Amino acid sequence: MKTPQPQTRFHNLDAIDDWSTQHADEIYQISRWGEGYFSVNDKGDLCINPTRTQNGPVINMMEIVEEMKNKNIPFPTVIRFHDILRSQVAVLNKTFRGTIEEAKFTGSYYGVYPIKVNQMREVVEEIVDAGGPYNYGLEAGSKPELMAALAMNVNQNSLTVVNGYKDVDLLRMALLGNQLGRKVIVVVEKYSELLDLMKLSAEVGVEPMIGLRAKISTKSSGKWASSGGDYAKFGLTITEILQAVKYLKSLDKAHCLKLLHFHIGSQIPDIKTIKDSISEGARIYAKLYKEGAKLEFFDVGGGIGVNYDGTRSNSPSSINYTTQDYVADVVYILKQICDIEDVPHPNIVSESGRAITAHHSCVITNVFGALEIGAANNFNTDKAINENILVTNMRDLSTELTEKNYQEVYNDALKLKEESVSAFKFGILTLDERAKLETLYWKICHRIVEHASKDEYAQDEIMALKSQMASQYMCNLSIFQSAPDTWAIGQILPVLPLHKLHEKPTELCTLVDITCDSDGKLDTFLSADGPTNTVPLHKLKDGEDYFIGLFMTGAYQDIMGDNHNCFGRLNEVHIFCDDDDPTDFYIEEVIYGNQASQVLSTLQYNPETMAQTVKALVDTQVKRGKIRPREGVDLTDFYESCLKSYTYLKK
Ligand SMILES: *Cc1c(COP(=O)(O)O)cnc(C)c1O
Repeated sequence: MKTPQPQTRFHNLDAIDDWSTQHADEIYQISRWGEGYFSVNDKGDLCINPTRTQNGPVINMMEIVEEMKNKNIPFPTVIRFHDILRSQVAVLNKTFRGTIEEAKFTGSYYGVYPIKVNQMREVVEEIVDAGGPYNYGLEAGSKPELMAALAMNVNQNSLTVVNGYKDVDLLRMALLGNQLGRKVIVVVEKYSELLDLMKLSAEVGVEPMIGLRAKISTKSSGKWASSGGDYAKFGLTITEILQAVKYLKSLDKAHCLKLLHFHIGSQIPDIKTIKDSISEGARIYAKLYKEGAKLEFFDVGGGIGVNYDGTRSNSPSSINYTTQDYVADVVYILKQICDIEDVPHPNIVSESGRAITAHHSCVITNVFGALEIGAANNFNTDKAINENILVTNMRDLSTELTEKNYQEVYNDALKLKEESVSAFKFGILTLDERAKLETLYWKICHRIVEHASKDEYAQDEIMALKSQMASQYMCNLSIFQSAPDTWAIGQILPVLPLHKLHEKPTELCTLVDITCDSDGKLDTFLSADGPTNTVPLHKLKDGEDYFIGLFMTGAYQDIMGDNHNCFGRLNEVHIFCDDDDPTDFYIEEVIYGNQASQVLSTLQYNPETMAQTVKALVDTQVKRGKIRPREGVDLTDFYESCLKSYTYLKK
């Protein structure tokens, strides 16, 4: 699945000898992806500034970790900052309101939050609550999501927009919303849905609010480019839209047509695409209006991206615009085209999810060890009498190696190593000789990488060796559960330690998770110069905890994760700020993740029967005298307690 992204650049930490927390900010790009919510304090701890104000609350990540330890909440854990969620909702709504006023635009803004981006009830509830003053609504893309929206969004003034393919029950559910006095707009994605909807509405005797999704020609770049363009999965062609208007007129129901919708993809990297889509969409709106479709809402879909990699460029993990730029384009381009076409300014709807939720949550966990490739060891490599010539040659290479000939030596060493494997298979090389040769080889490689690091013309091959030899830090988490997009589509997420940021990190690492899957790793990271294969981390010390965080996981990640290797859902800690508390925060709620028995149950196992079976087996061994009775009880208890415990590694 994962497409390898070979990058040769790496952090040149050697050049920094006066390390400060400022360097940490640069190396991990904290200010750039963090949008003012994240900072480093003098002690080198990562802090959260949920209100982004000068004298506002500052939450220290390590104080959260301390409190979790006191409460025996095991890692890995999702941390949600509800105040960031609230802040993002307010920012989007205030930006639209401000820009609308400034532009003397006569429509209003009615944003909706697309539930699919993060469906957790607590998240949706917080967004609805924070959006109350702005009549911020919800978007649903399936029957269960619409059921959630009907129950959560009880504000009569806000919209509920229904997208996605629809069956009759889903349409019926939307009409139920209308019957309850709510503004539920059904967006028609394919023509036959309109026929079904009108038939049902006549049967039930409720007038629907109809939206039409246009298949516009503007295509985004990036990872979701196929959401737009002529071959997109959703939407009506211009021909079908005209046909729909005609059909509704023939039923005398043209007044039910309320909204024009388009959505050209998620994480749109380039502002130019946004401008193009608004221009195209605005023209469609204006022309339809003149055709007699008195649309009230212009829905620009989702797509505002976030700066996962901090570059603020049009790379797929980034964006080259701010929310302010986006909003200004939507409002001003729409206004200009409406004015030229002489049609009224519609109300604006947007369906941004990623931009609302990405920053509010992260996954924190402990690093519990390191795997070093070709780790320096004390294996004796002294010359033996009558040793195989291959070993002697490798030792000679090691003596010859200098900063000038390292490339040549590398080629020779690689060749010798390959030959040694053949020789071993033919029985010519002994086990001891193979071990000697490999020890010498890795020592040579370590020195080659050191030389290459100081050489700006070093070859790609040697740079690849450098990242291949990077330490692999073992992290107590599953990529498949907690960061699926890093694996599935090569999305970059910020990764950094939660503490020690005042000390220079000395190890260039890749990260491996605890699944038995070689794809369960992170080996693409952000840097000031673009994607790189390693992340700088601190040397692990015996008896000292080392905590890292995976940030910006609030959009899509925790909801798309799966139970690979039976690792289940994570614990969640919900944080609220409290200026009166000495720590500036309190843990409002802890939601415990899956126990082993819960994950097993979803896969059709019956944990109770499993425990009974193991108990019966233990009893048999007790009867046979193989296990002592007291020990038998302990073993049965142990099995049962593991069924009830967290699926991740215990510290
Ligand atoms: C997924 C989706 C969204 C949300 O997109 P973001 O990029 O997260 O803002 C909005 N509208 C529709 C129709 C979608 O499918």
